[in-house]
Amino acid sequence: MAYEVPPLPYDYNALEPTIDEATMHLHHDKHHQAYVNAANGLLEGTEWADKPVEEVLKNLGSLGDKATGVRNQAGGHYNHSLFWEWMSPNGGGAPDGDLGSAIDSAFGSFDDFKAQFKDAGVKRFGSGWAWLIHDGSGLAIVSTANQDNPISDGNTPLLGVDVWEHAYYLNYQNRRPDYLDAWWNVVNWAKVAEGFSAASS
Ligand code: MN
Repeated sequence: MAYEVPPLPYDYNALEPTIDEATMHLHHDKHHQAYVNAANGLLEGTEWADKPVEEVLKNLGSLGDKATGVRNQAGGHYNHSLFWEWMSPNGGGAPDGDLGSAIDSAFGSFDDFKAQFKDAGVKRFGSGWAWLIHDGSGLAIVSTANQDNPISDGNTPLLGVDVWEHAYYLNYQNRRPDYLDAWWNVVNWAKVAEGFSAASS
């Protein structure tokens, strides 16, 4: 089955004031839809057309001359599908339990983690993402360009923030650092903990 944009798990205005309703409409309804449409067009008629997007992104080397297009467009679909789930109107606060302990252990403290994650997002030149990943042995922070997803490098994305201008420009204009500071208010740590648990087991 062709890919579809999943419905938002909350209202378009539910993440205000951190992310405004107009940005959510454009980002989800227009940008994400465009990635889905383009990915479906690229994969139509190939053996990958009905495969889960994760599987496609783990096998970009098999896509031949479509690899770059699929990396961008299917990557855009997967990244945004995750991004909506990693935010919640009931988000914010700090992770607890095993995830909280693992973050403290890997980065020194939750505040140190936040500083390093923000730094990855601020320093990503142009468009891309900052990520908390599980690399098979533990937690790490990385950033990727464009719509690249860590899954294509064999890592598991646990949390990612979109630093394309389309994610923040209406509300924050050029102030990407302010967007990244505010974004912690909507992070869905329960969802992140689910991914951490699955990746650690
Ligand atoms: Mn985006």
